[in-house]
Amino acid sequence: MSAESAALSSRRIEVAGGLARVRARIDSARRAAGRVDEVTLIVVTKRFPAADVDLLADLGVTDVGENKEQEARAKYAVVQSRERLRLHFIGQLQSNKAGAVAQIADVVHSVDRAKLIGALGRHRGPMGRPLDVLIQVSLDGATGRGGALPAEVPRLAGLVAGQEWLRLRGVMAVAPLGADPDRAFADLRTVSDAIRAEHPEARWISAGMSADLEAAVRHGATHLRVGTAILGTRASLG
Ligand SMILES: *Cc1c(COP(=O)(O)O)cnc(C)c1O
Repeated sequence: MSAESAALSSRRIEVAGGLARVRARIDSARRAAGRVDEVTLIVVTKRFPAADVDLLADLGVTDVGENKEQEARAKYAVVQSRERLRLHFIGQLQSNKAGAVAQIADVVHSVDRAKLIGALGRHRGPMGRPLDVLIQVSLDGATGRGGALPAEVPRLAGLVAGQEWLRLRGVMAVAPLGADPDRAFADLRTVSDAIRAEHPEARWISAGMSADLEAAVRHGATHLRVGTAILGTRASLG
């Protein structure tokens, strides 16, 4: 075996192991919560190479997440080459990058202001199929790290619903640093319930990462975004 293929096969064993452990955690959390509905695992591939995206697809992963426009674009060729792979954009998004993201993402989780909604809608039209959108909610009363305040969410949801090429799917949040994730995700559930009263189809809740996915499942998360627990520790941003 060449050194290159040996490295590939050891990475495959490592990632397959991480994936199996996380799937087992999700299964037992679903059982504990008495959930019989589907929970979608999004593997967050940021700062890992495109070869890992390919490997994940080989291992049956159908959803990957990226948080930077440039990196998402760099991995898009792999995503496109795999029939069943969906690309989720989960990072803070500047309006001037919205056009590029609207053209490559299947889902954008991080919509938190009106300007972004217009830009995504405009650039998605030419693609000829709608873009799935989640409103990101800030759960700590600040918006510096992205996310709209809960009071703003109904208005933003209405704006998304009014766009021909955007499909309002629900809400997303990251548990605030140091906060009790059960408390945070219970709050997110409350925001989700309010949105669903107006927009019944907007039933996705994107919540839960490597450290707190069990709490997210307890509070109704339909989508989990997991990186470290599957792929290992990311290289620092330097
Ligand atoms: C990086 C990231 C994740 C994954 O975090 P892990 O702790 O590595 O599982 C999830 N959501 C968002 C928004 C992220 O940026």
